[in-house]
Amino acid sequence: MYFRLKLLLKSNLILYILTDMIYFDNSATTFVSQGVRNKIIELTEDSLSANPGALHKLGNRAADICEGIRKETAGLLGAKPEEIFFTSCATESANTAIKGYMSRNKRSGNAVISTRTEHKATLECLEYLAKLGYEIRFVKVGPDGKPLIESLEEELGKGDVALACFTLVNNETGSVLPFEDIFKTIKAKSPATAIYLDCVQALGKMPVDLSKLGADMCSFSGHKIHSVKGNGVLYVRKGVRIDPLIVGGGQQDGMRSGTQSPVLAGAFLEALKEVSTEIDESFAKVSEINNFLRKELADRGAKILSPDDALPYVLNVSFDGFESETMLHCLEIYDIYVSTVSACSAKTKKVSYVLLESGVDRKIAANAVRLSFSRSNTMEEAVEFIKRVDEIYEQFLIK
Ligand code: PLP
Repeated sequence: MYFRLKLLLKSNLILYILTDMIYFDNSATTFVSQGVRNKIIELTEDSLSANPGALHKLGNRAADICEGIRKETAGLLGAKPEEIFFTSCATESANTAIKGYMSRNKRSGNAVISTRTEHKATLECLEYLAKLGYEIRFVKVGPDGKPLIESLEEELGKGDVALACFTLVNNETGSVLPFEDIFKTIKAKSPATAIYLDCVQALGKMPVDLSKLGADMCSFSGHKIHSVKGNGVLYVRKGVRIDPLIVGGGQQDGMRSGTQSPVLAGAFLEALKEVSTEIDESFAKVSEINNFLRKELADRGAKILSPDDALPYVLNVSFDGFESETMLHCLEIYDIYVSTVSACSAKTKKVSYVLLESGVDRKIAANAVRLSFSRSNTMEEAVEFIKRVDEIYEQFLIK
């Protein structure tokens, strides 16, 4: 919690408001936890900083640390150590999985299925594949953002599907993929189709057990779970063959070349341990905040765009009379931070393609703001948020 003296200019009056910062933009990125900071300091001690690829004993020690981190990370995710690879971010993991799978498995088929509501990390890979001549087929989604089973069956029925790409939790709405039904349908209709699953917004927020999930490849991002930026994880199920995206010295079994960073991998692991320990407590806390905001905002005429059964960490809401960006900046005056469309594409000032694809009216989508929470948020912040929204309507709404 930070206290800030904020300057508000209104009608030539200078008002000073004492505010606490309220950070409701945790799907964009999270604060770095103290435990992660401590771990980073510990792992940057001189004696641990040798190249894990070096042949001398310092190198061996660094390699042992990397292997230990890999083993523990795998354990927490329900994977085998040899199925886990450290990357720089989830975007790199997605690129490696999607492009690498299609490059290595040319005989598995020429088509990839997905939805148009995926994160750009997936959609841009698909765009790249389309340019190479692969056929990209999009499954329709319902108003809750979930892929429609009939549409999935139809696209699979056309045959030749090498890969299916989906997201476990949508970053803009919190919509949760009914993965059991989706994967069952894929396995029944097209058993040889491999599955890539973006697990970025699910990790630490709902159970993710890779031994049970049924995906062949998954991506994870450290900075969404209170680690620093610059670390991600790629899971590739044993037996699934993919071409590496980054080639070079052959580190990480040749899957991801480049000198390994025990510091970044260790930061990811520390963050993962923390979110895994606090998963239930955090879920309960965030659910209370979400339920309160849903009710209070709906009572004020705002339109809730996240489905009722969305993960409570994301609340997408459309404010009548305020375009997304206007509301974002009004809230910013009070040191309240939210986002419009996902941060990666926010600067392009577009209306959310995720909402439009889910059938939301363009005018309503143009006023959509995403609130996203973490274990650090409190009910007091939620109450303060509502108070500020009331003030914004009172002071800034052009009637
Ligand atoms: N997938 C989803 C669902 C995301 O929300 C994000 C980040 O916003 C990414 C992938 C990309 O993650 P990274 O920033 O680690 O590349």
